[in-house]
Amino acid sequence: MANKLSDIKEELALANRILAHEGVLDAFGHVSVRHPGDPGRYLLSRSRSPALIEPADILEYTLDSEPVRPPTAHLYAERVIHGCIYQARSDVTAVCHHHAPAVMPFVIAGKPIVPVFHLGAAIGEEPPFWDQQDEFGDTNLLVVKPEEGRSLARALGHHSVVLMNRHGATVVGNGLKELVSRSIFMCQNAEYQLRALMIGAAPVLPRGEIKLAGAISRLPNVVTRTWEYWSARVPADKTTAAARGRRAKPARSMRRRKARR
Ligand SMILES: [Zn+2]
Repeated sequence: MANKLSDIKEELALANRILAHEGVLDAFGHVSVRHPGDPGRYLLSRSRSPALIEPADILEYTLDSEPVRPPTAHLYAERVIHGCIYQARSDVTAVCHHHAPAVMPFVIAGKPIVPVFHLGAAIGEEPPFWDQQDEFGDTNLLVVKPEEGRSLARALGHHSVVLMNRHGATVVGNGLKELVSRSIFMCQNAEYQLRALMIGAAPVLPRGEIKLAGAISRLPNVVTRTWEYWSARVPADKTTAAARGRRAKPARSMRRRKARR
């Protein structure tokens, strides 16, 4: 169990760094994963920019988004997004909340992001919008109260993505690899949709194509391949300390062999 937990913390730290490197997350935004041994808990970093997150930053939370152990660091204010979605969706094991530049024009204009190319089908049919103003009036636009998190989870419904007016988006997945893939292809889709609109038209994929192409995007070999590609794109000096240690190991053993000679 300990090993499995340490592996998933490493994977979660890498997911943060991949999404930061690919322009989905910046100083803000966060990624979580359901605890591999306890579906009533989830794992999420302390409050830190995603590009810098190490496995040691990752804490355990109950689904009420309370830290399991007394915290010694600042926590993300918007962690109820994660807890409330895990409570509402037993099929969801990973969540990403972001304010990616690619999606912001759409959530500011209140215009839907729809799948316009085969890999964009990963987002599913037209994602719903959630406007915090509708239920809660004027707020600072952060999702910090449990009732706000529950409202967002209701808007997400059975979808894979919910767009948040004047704020960003929240993406869910079955596993971190699927989540990372969906989050990145969502941003690519938004960029292509906007560019295609500028040259004339961005028709949505037919329903059948969304279903068939979306199913391919969830295949284990597909999400493993994209994960491997995006992992390789994270510069060596920006991977986690543990990964840097692993990369450095062959060099150390080489030195030892030479010393023995
Ligand atoms: Zn936010």
